[in-house]
Amino acid sequence: MNNSRESSIRVNMVGYMQRMPKRVAVLSDEPLSVLDDKGREVKTIKDIELRADESSGDRVALLDLEDLTKGEYTLKNGNDERKIKVDDSPYTEVTKALIKGLYYQRCGCALDEKHAGIYTHGACHTAPATEWENHSVQKTIIGGWHDAGDYGKYVGPGAVTVAHLLYAYCLFPSGCSFDLNIPETGNGTPDILNEARWELEWILKMQKEDGSFYHKLTKARFAPFIMPEDDKEPEYIMPVSHCATAAAVAVLALASRVYKEFDGEFSSRTLAAAIKGFEWIEKNPEFKPYIQPEGVNTGMYGDFSDRDERFWASCELYASTGEEKYKKTAEKMYSDAKDPELRKREMESNPFFQRMKKFHVFDEIKLGLDVTQYGWMDVSGLGALCCLVVIKEKGGEMLYDEVKADFLERSGSILENVKESGYGTTLKPKGYVWGSILSVMGNAMSMIINWLLTGNDDMRDGALNQLDYALGLNALDISFITGFGEKRVMNPHHRPSGADGIDEPVPGLISGGPNGGFTYPSTKERLGDTPPAKYFLDETPSADTNEIAIYWNSPAVFVAACFSTL
Ligand SMILES: [Zn+2]
Repeated sequence: MNNSRESSIRVNMVGYMQRMPKRVAVLSDEPLSVLDDKGREVKTIKDIELRADESSGDRVALLDLEDLTKGEYTLKNGNDERKIKVDDSPYTEVTKALIKGLYYQRCGCALDEKHAGIYTHGACHTAPATEWENHSVQKTIIGGWHDAGDYGKYVGPGAVTVAHLLYAYCLFPSGCSFDLNIPETGNGTPDILNEARWELEWILKMQKEDGSFYHKLTKARFAPFIMPEDDKEPEYIMPVSHCATAAAVAVLALASRVYKEFDGEFSSRTLAAAIKGFEWIEKNPEFKPYIQPEGVNTGMYGDFSDRDERFWASCELYASTGEEKYKKTAEKMYSDAKDPELRKREMESNPFFQRMKKFHVFDEIKLGLDVTQYGWMDVSGLGALCCLVVIKEKGGEMLYDEVKADFLERSGSILENVKESGYGTTLKPKGYVWGSILSVMGNAMSMIINWLLTGNDDMRDGALNQLDYALGLNALDISFITGFGEKRVMNPHHRPSGADGIDEPVPGLISGGPNGGFTYPSTKERLGDTPPAKYFLDETPSADTNEIAIYWNSPAVFVAACFSTL
């Protein structure tokens, strides 16, 4: 088998579902033969028309092997060969691993051999932390997940991660309620909820007496590549922020519904914290962006608006309580976002916006909430998801009819991108930015939600094409999920994977993927004018292309859970 990077055949290396499209890409117009496990030719595709793929510079044809039944096959194209598998449910293991990947990010505890296998480590970050703004205040806030390749813990990113998991569970319970061999397994609650609770308990501890939430709990600087238990530098509790508070409110309100049937006390506790957090926002309505304190260089997670976070928070609180005041706030956030004068004023007076303008990150002021966004910076899609699948008709004209029309239009254009791409990927060349996998998985989420609303199977199939991308059907011929695929990411920017002395990285982590936009100078030096879809280094130092993050794993959980139910 030709396993070199130049293989002319690209496949989903984990497998294909018998009942779904089975897309492979070829980069040569020679016929493609499909042989079964006895070497018999079961299919030949002769007329292969290559077309230019703008993002990668490749000339490529995307083919559907359609009617292959369960089994193992060899694909032949010229001198290249590739094996594929067709199965009833090929994504169960990868879904489990993506959720368990979060267990390996647990902070404040040891990972023991029983649950972590060879990836054990001692208890980490258990010392009291100091408030950055007032060094006389110390608090013991233990728990949560390490955010990404670093050991920081951040409320906003944690909140969206949990939300992706909880919505995956709400929409596709049978696709993600697997036992994961974590310490809570067997306690009567599905493990995906047990794992999410590890972060929720930490988020609860990040709430101040006045209801607000601290932005993050990190060191002043990133740790070197050492194991977490060896990272003894003092941790600081960074100032509160509107975005962290509203995101925490949203996910806690959501959690109050999801955990109700398993633990009434926990459900009440999360709802009370959410209500209290919302009251703080009402008392402090003027948005102040989080500005990194002098002397701190861990992840900033800055934002130029909290309108989307407030929209999401008020939607979730309305869904959980039925109180009209939350509905009114959600409506106001949604409609104000469409006001060009208001948006312009907000942006121009915003120090974070001004700072980022220098980097041309936010050149234009976009109107309206983008209801297809689910990342830490723009959570509008999570608010929309709440409107469309939980609140439904009770949302009335604005929160249901308008949001739905808006959502269908935006998600419709995502499918257009799939059709234009040589590999069926949803990103245009400019979409390959830091953590491009978030957009790929977020777009897949949007197409799945569109399919749930409309029944349009093209949307479902377009979403599956994004899971194919993550598992190897891409211009780099690599699976972005550690532990999966014959050619997989081996050197993610992830401190434990880099420091544990084990060749294989911690399994079930998804790499941020190609980033042709905001790259390190050292990466630019190496890759020069490589096309954006190939701007990637499977090398530990390349945080700009190969870091992992909890909030990239979680949308992948949503997508993989969907296809594990079908
Ligand atoms: Zn830790």
